[in-house]
Amino acid sequence: MPRAFVIGAGLAGLVAAEALARGGMAVTVLEASPKAGGRCRSYRDARLGRVIDNGNHLVLAANRAVLDWAGRIGGADALERGEAAFPFLDLADGQQWCVRPGPGPWGALAARPPGVRPGTLVRDMARLAAARPSATVERAVGAASPLMARFWDPMSRAVLNEDPARGSARLLAAALLRSFARGAGAARPVFFPRGLGPALVDPALALLERQGTQIDLRRPVAALEGGDRLRTIHAGARIDFAPGDVAVLAVPPRQASALLPRLALPPSGRAIANAHFVVPDSGLPPLLALLGGTAHWLFRRGDVVSVTVSAAEDSALEGLGRDAALARLWADVAAAVRAHGGAVPPAMPAARFLRERAATFDQSPEGAARRHGPRTPWPNLLLAGDHVRTGLPATLEGAVRSGERAARLALRAAQRAAP
Ligand SMILES: Cc1cc2nc3c(=O)[nH]c(=O)nc-3n(C[C@H](O)[C@H](O)[C@H](O)COP(=O)(O)OP(=O)(O)OC[C@H]3O[C@@H](n4cnc5c(N)ncnc54)[C@H](O)[C@@H]3O)c2cc1C
Repeated sequence: MPRAFVIGAGLAGLVAAEALARGGMAVTVLEASPKAGGRCRSYRDARLGRVIDNGNHLVLAANRAVLDWAGRIGGADALERGEAAFPFLDLADGQQWCVRPGPGPWGALAARPPGVRPGTLVRDMARLAAARPSATVERAVGAASPLMARFWDPMSRAVLNEDPARGSARLLAAALLRSFARGAGAARPVFFPRGLGPALVDPALALLERQGTQIDLRRPVAALEGGDRLRTIHAGARIDFAPGDVAVLAVPPRQASALLPRLALPPSGRAIANAHFVVPDSGLPPLLALLGGTAHWLFRRGDVVSVTVSAAEDSALEGLGRDAALARLWADVAAAVRAHGGAVPPAMPAARFLRERAATFDQSPEGAARRHGPRTPWPNLLLAGDHVRTGLPATLEGAVRSGERAARLALRAAQRAAP
């Protein structure tokens, strides 16, 4: 049986491994860390006594590839669809509003902050959609847009992990045109009540095991060697390739560049900081956008309120230690709980602070221009991962799609090379 090696057990690698096994290959996954899932993982946190995710992830109903993946592996029961309603709270002046797309493709027109005319959103969206590849969000919609502070800034940070002065207009347009612009059905948020792992990772590991895939954790790949094709993977022991063997490299761009120095891949982007607080009776909705403070988004899952700060290097958290960062974010959470009529605990409750460096690739126009397709100079080695050119930003949706595509091409390469 021809063999396939998948390097990296993040979502892109798991998707590729499953498709390769289904395609009849004998698959081995080589993962550097002790756990699968990569940037999309859950764990039981001893301090909180709860399962938390490494980072809050916003998935929308428009992300068909992610939802189909959950369905395919048996994780769909661990998903919950919410309402297409995005409440906002401005901590600076206490104003609250809800961005609520209406049904159908024009539904997005109904989704705008108060005091902004519907025509403004249409005009800005058109400018974003028509932007040159070199344009930033700010350049495309204009720094003076009435929607900048209350819509484009939070959207750019949420989708691109970049502020509007740096983020690529094209990438933001791609994400919004596929989701938000299609109206309420596509914009419904999808929640993970038990965490990302039980929906997207754990059932995949169980399925891969049933398919006979070998998953080697704590097995980093140190080097790749070849001539006209990939011939050897160095991962502790040598893995020498027979004709017809294929590999998928599904690691972030920094690690992929180290293994394939001839490819100029996008540099790493910004960090995302997350803080998790146990707050019974917070009164908060499952999702809340915050302006005017340090926190950008709050996600509530049961009694855990989790904070996201995107492009964290540019935020007030930069230079703060863990305790100071938690204290600052707790002030925002407490203000939001108060504004929603919830019960604010007398002192900061049990909390966890996590900072994911290089959470995404550099999603500026310059970074995006360096995205590479799935093919490499070696026909039997394909690239997968959210940094691969999918047209989508660094998201779970992009990771899943790239894994599927790499597996399709790898199966074709294996067939062509078969004796
Ligand atoms: C805090 C945070 C918040 C996010 N929020 C969202 C969101 O709201 N919505 C959304 O859609 N996306 C979000 N993302 C992005 C999303 O998590 C990623 O796009 C996706 O998980 C990337 O998957 P991947 O498989 O491409 O890469 P990864 O998940 O990074 O997987 C790569 C794997 O390769 C392994 N590896 C690296 N080097 C080697 C080596 N030499 N040998 C073997 N293995 C190696 C790594 O250990 C890792 O397991 C967020 C990410 C973070 C960090």
